[in-house]
Amino acid sequence: MTIANLIDVLTPALDEGYGVAGLVVLGWEDACAFVAAAEDLRCPVILQAGPGCRTHTPISVLGPMFRALAEQSQVPVVCHIDHATTISECQAGIDYGFTSVMIDGSRLHLAENIALTASMKEIAHPHGVSVEAEIGFVGYDEGALSLPTKPEEAAELVKQACPDALAISVGNVHLQTSADTVIDKVALAAIEEVVNCPLVLHGASGIKAADRGWLASNSKVCKFNVGTELRQAFGTSLRNVLDSDAHLFDRNQILSAVKPALIEQTKKVLKSIDARKA
Ligand SMILES: [Zn+2]
Repeated sequence: MTIANLIDVLTPALDEGYGVAGLVVLGWEDACAFVAAAEDLRCPVILQAGPGCRTHTPISVLGPMFRALAEQSQVPVVCHIDHATTISECQAGIDYGFTSVMIDGSRLHLAENIALTASMKEIAHPHGVSVEAEIGFVGYDEGALSLPTKPEEAAELVKQACPDALAISVGNVHLQTSADTVIDKVALAAIEEVVNCPLVLHGASGIKAADRGWLASNSKVCKFNVGTELRQAFGTSLRNVLDSDAHLFDRNQILSAVKPALIEQTKKVLKSIDARKA
């Protein structure tokens, strides 16, 4: 049984200077592909059910699905709820077997974010469930603008609420379809001066592979969330498969053919943040 939480996979990653990928899952096929890629490379992986995934499929289905994959896997797999804004959403995740939650108080005032994160940790830890928080705000491509993380606020949140991982905003942006993000390394260093916990970059699809590698080896960033890049790989592969044979109609046949390209792209993502695997 290789089911894990963020503490299990991020503690050695931070110590040894490699990254662990938080991969955005939308269904069974991509979740299987992500675990297959991690098994091929013998590295841990974090499967993430975000708001879009939870809208599409009930959490009562996702929890057992994620757990089944984790329990049968040859590598540590974290079953993570991404961007939950309420304790009740996280509690539902815990009830259905998730091993990790992100309580996203990034839109709240600092004191409220700290109180929410601390309460979540109190509820989660007795169940062996880890907690990720966010400070500052990571914006969205063609959507809400980012608010950079203030080091003093990050320090205060970590001191008072002690999350197991902290998502920060240092130039990273969600939903980027090309890798042209410039990470503010000065801002990152200022946060690292005052915060001693694993850091998370959401929006890592927008960060060049070489920059991800540098960050994994040289900073406290050790969780890299990747969604868009792999959704693009899935969409491209699906289009190619359907274009290759006008008579294809069976879902299982189509999605089995889509999977190898998704596994290959996932392996590229995993290698980009773990120099031992490159
Ligand atoms: Zn995010």
